[in-house]
Amino acid sequence: MPRYEFRCRACGDTFEVDRPMSGATEPARCPEGHDDTVKLLTTAGMAGRVQVSAPAGGGGGGCCGGGCCG
Ligand SMILES: [Zn+2]
Repeated sequence: MPRYEFRCRACGDTFEVDRPMSGATEPARCPEGHDDTVKLLTTAGMAGRVQVSAPAGGGGGGCCGGGCCG
């Protein structure tokens, strides 16, 4: 069963919910009982390829991708 990660905007807590994919878009309630939650990136191994390109040190220049970073 896929695992989804949510973040509560009321208390700032993050929590994970195991639920079938059919309920992926349904809102989740945080452990504190708040309904104001947002779904984060899923940590489940979904089918297909996910391209992760988070810059490690900030910046955000256009160097990487042009080939000059190796
Ligand atoms: Zn909460």
